[in-house]
Amino acid sequence: MGHTHIWWIRRDLRLHDNQALEAALQGADQVVPLFIIEPELMESAAPKRRAFLLNALDRLDHQLKTLGSRLIVRRGPAHTALPAFIDELNDAAVFAQEDFSPFARQRDQAVAKSLDLRLFPGVVRQHPETILKEDGDPYIVYTPYKQEWYGQPLPTPADCLPSPAALPPVPDGLDSQPLPQADPVPGFPSSSEAALGRLIEFTAGALLNYQSQRNRLDLDGTSRLSPYLRFGLISAREAVAHAHIASLQANTDAARSEIQTWLDELVWREFYTAILFHFPHVLERPFRAAYENIPWRNAPDDLAAWQNGQTGYPVVDACMRQLVETGWMHNRGRMIVASFLTKDLLVNWQEGEAWFMHNLIDGDPAANNGGWQWTAGTGTDAAPYFRIFNPATQGLRHDPQGDFIARWVPELAELPAPYRHEPWTLPPAEAAQYGFSLGRDYPERLVDHSYARQRTLDAYKKARG
Ligand SMILES: Cc1cc2nc3c(=O)[nH]c(=O)nc-3n(C[C@H](O)[C@H](O)[C@H](O)COP(=O)(O)OP(=O)(O)OC[C@H]3O[C@@H](n4cnc5c(N)ncnc54)[C@H](O)[C@@H]3O)c2cc1C
Repeated sequence: MGHTHIWWIRRDLRLHDNQALEAALQGADQVVPLFIIEPELMESAAPKRRAFLLNALDRLDHQLKTLGSRLIVRRGPAHTALPAFIDELNDAAVFAQEDFSPFARQRDQAVAKSLDLRLFPGVVRQHPETILKEDGDPYIVYTPYKQEWYGQPLPTPADCLPSPAALPPVPDGLDSQPLPQADPVPGFPSSSEAALGRLIEFTAGALLNYQSQRNRLDLDGTSRLSPYLRFGLISAREAVAHAHIASLQANTDAARSEIQTWLDELVWREFYTAILFHFPHVLERPFRAAYENIPWRNAPDDLAAWQNGQTGYPVVDACMRQLVETGWMHNRGRMIVASFLTKDLLVNWQEGEAWFMHNLIDGDPAANNGGWQWTAGTGTDAAPYFRIFNPATQGLRHDPQGDFIARWVPELAELPAPYRHEPWTLPPAEAAQYGFSLGRDYPERLVDHSYARQRTLDAYKKARG
């Protein structure tokens, strides 16, 4: 038997632009694509996220088979499953894409104690340790981080690796456990072909209006690539490269500016990955110690109303219903509902963070924590606790015709557009005309926004001393 390499698949469910796979193929007579089902990760994953992953693995196995290989599946934890697997092979080096969450880092450190683990880029374009201030400290503010990030030349698609044309066979006789069956996730076909297709379609179309339309809840103005980036059905480099080439080919400054805004979002993703890497405590408590003592309300009924889309604020309810039904929510929606939970209901952001992880297909500890701490005002931003969204105004601005409300809160679909966002302003005589009764057909508001706003300002002030 010659050299055997294991390609240990984690968040890189793709054959194209896969630096770990490319390295595993060098000098190997046999390459074993291995996925380890980690009980800790699988059991905590949102059902739709789990289904997306399992379908993507199934599709990857299919792709591997067409190239003369196959996927081997084992059960974890990795630090026991991997050494046992290597014993079966006699010896093998392990090639994997580096991941940065505290769970992933601890797992890899434990594994590397007993075997030859080699890690490669792919989750982000810039490793968290490569974007540092002059004194070597990590950036904690987005804008200077971003400036440094753009200091490195951007890739184009020509810099991305193609899929291998063929793969060496997997050694005979290796057992693979069956993948648990999962229904497809509507709206998010789980394959790297679908991911690349979506990236190409987006960069040739909606990207050119991204800056102007990205906040519109009623339009399809964003890429919906987040689940694909989450599980590496495309690499971070591919996403950047396709946007960069679109920018190089754009004819006007206006078009370049639209594209730039999308690239900036990819930088946010990397910024939060770096924040979690350098400050893992954010998963347990606020980034800023000054906000550790906010007097959060213990309000299980309010929390349940928020989770179930029954707060009486249509835009909040529409977004929360979209989350539970589809496993995805628009970024503007995420900001609105997160602001509502933390600032209007004064419920701890960690409750919202957990509910999002329980439902999102793209649920990612770094981006999710970053988004929640940003909205709660406990994160890396300097003075954000005054930022309290008015849910009605947000709805009117980002869903001007109320189409998004009509889609997700059908109880309000018959009302004229402005009333869909503020049904409590509908005069009773007019309400009767529509056969609509607030409190009967749709809940009364859980809380008055002006009152809630002041309550939060007072609570944050108290916490800051
Ligand atoms: C409270 C809250 C929680 C969030 N939780 C998650 C999460 O668990 N997983 C997740 O991927 N994103 C999260 N985000 C960020 C953002 O909302 C989603 O990435 C985005 O809505 C996904 O839709 P899209 O792919 O169409 O994004 P696009 O607008 O097309 O953006 C392209 C990509 O950039 C990245 N991105 C965009 N905005 C952000 C951002 N603010 N922070 C980090 N990355 C970003 C995503 O990978 C996204 O796919 C959260 C935001 C908030 C406010």
